[in-house]
Amino acid sequence: MTSPKSQVSLRVRRRRFVVVAILALAAVIAIAAVLFNGLQPTGRSAVGGSTGVSDSASSSAPSDTTPSETPMPDPTPTPTPTPAFDKLAQSIDDPASLWVVVNKLRPLTPDDYAAPDLVDVPVPFANPPRLRAEASAAVVRMFADFEAATGQRMQSQSAYRSYSSQVSVYNGWVSSLGATGADLTSARPGYSEHQTGLAIDVSALPAACTLQACFGDTPQGQWLAANAWNYGFTLRYPQGRTPVTGYEYEPWHYRYVGLALAAELHASGAATLEEFFGLPAAPTY
Ligand SMILES: [Zn+2]
Repeated sequence: MTSPKSQVSLRVRRRRFVVVAILALAAVIAIAAVLFNGLQPTGRSAVGGSTGVSDSASSSAPSDTTPSETPMPDPTPTPTPTPAFDKLAQSIDDPASLWVVVNKLRPLTPDDYAAPDLVDVPVPFANPPRLRAEASAAVVRMFADFEAATGQRMQSQSAYRSYSSQVSVYNGWVSSLGATGADLTSARPGYSEHQTGLAIDVSALPAACTLQACFGDTPQGQWLAANAWNYGFTLRYPQGRTPVTGYEYEPWHYRYVGLALAAELHASGAATLEEFFGLPAAPTY
């Protein structure tokens, strides 16, 4: 028989034992849970979800939460592809191609080629200009934008020239400069870009430095040098390239090649069509 006092003491000890036992059990469960988690294969979590970081490290384990998820993409970063410019996309031989390259080694074929779809170019002019329709539209936009940007004007000095009119022009230069001088500034018939309907000589309005190197220093010449590529034109006979083109610096002579090639020429830094297309220099006939 125990005294009431000892019965109270026994009850207290039992309660302490129960509390300690519960705490010990909780600790065992907690340790077991940690160990169980650590043994899980990567990509699966005992907590029941995708853990993002470990999921991305292993693509083989299926995800608990998104079973229909498509496999992870190749982790190798793919650089944004820059489409290579296709230099063979258009002909450089066909006189009707916007990319045709005409120089002293590359006459038009046939030499009396007549450009198609010629239209009157509705801009101020020194001589009534005609160009192929696409080049004409580009000239109209270019001249309008120049006037809007600067408040000044420019005009067409000379645009399309047929084979027969080139005969007259070339013979005129031979008369004033002699054959050698004429060949540095004017093409022989059948060798002129003007015969393609894609070339224009631009001058200031009112006239200043017309068909002279100082045109390059006028507001018109400077603006064209900086902006003509935006309209599909390239300065065909740049300074310092006479050994390549066969012509002296002509800051007034612009050749329409279309927006894509003009932009690529501008971006590439190639000064001439010959250099861009890897063609032989054409200093003489
Ligand atoms: Zn010209």
